[in-house]
Amino acid sequence: MTKQTASAAPRKSAASGRGKATRGPAKTDMGGIAPVDGSGDVEQRIYQSVFDGVLNQRLPPGTKLPEPALCDLFGVSRAVVRKVLQRLEHDHIIELRPNRGAVIAAPTPEETRKIFEARRALEAALVELAVKRHSGKDIDELHALLRQEEEAMSNAYQPAWAQTARNFHLRVAALGGNPILLGYLTELISRCSLIVALYEPAGNAACEHEEHCDIVDAISKGDAARAVAAMNAHLVGLEDRICLERPSSVKTLAQMLNLA
Ligand SMILES: [Zn+2]
Repeated sequence: MTKQTASAAPRKSAASGRGKATRGPAKTDMGGIAPVDGSGDVEQRIYQSVFDGVLNQRLPPGTKLPEPALCDLFGVSRAVVRKVLQRLEHDHIIELRPNRGAVIAAPTPEETRKIFEARRALEAALVELAVKRHSGKDIDELHALLRQEEEAMSNAYQPAWAQTARNFHLRVAALGGNPILLGYLTELISRCSLIVALYEPAGNAACEHEEHCDIVDAISKGDAARAVAAMNAHLVGLEDRICLERPSSVKTLAQMLNLA
């Protein structure tokens, strides 16, 4: 499974209805892919720029990522750009098409259904283990995460909610005490994050905060059946809110960058 996804590509869903007024239309200017300031691994910076562009809905499915434009934008060679594109393809963020170059991936409804199906299976198993294996201190930590999530809901910056919601799912999963299952889930959550970012109707945030609270309540009371049911219902709701009909942008990266 994808190590890079786990380390480089997090972020996920958000809290509830607060997002309604704060989700503006996708930007089509330089915001599509923005050079990142600071030192560090240039490949990682390009990777993260594209990943963030997708999560922030600036790069819709089907957006072309021409190698020359990326080379110019980041001041790097084609060899570097190609390495990054291969990583992005490996993590299912882009598709590399022969003779047509890279485009932002557009998971099909069938792929989306299977990814969520796998995620539900894994999270059900992990939350059941979490009920058995958690400590009182773990519950305190989950409550602290829920408070962070509540604070993030009042922040207009959507990725902040997404990050806290993602942290919540991974924290619950970690309590299951099975790093192998946790590794698989980490990849699936990243893929779900991208799908939610790609297809979530504007203004409709992903994770419902109250549902997270219910899950924690069931874990803290040692009620495995309720915890599994709550997690499953939560993930079904998340999938149901995705609108796969959202049209792809017809703008190219060059247009987004005012290069064409
Ligand atoms: Zn959630």
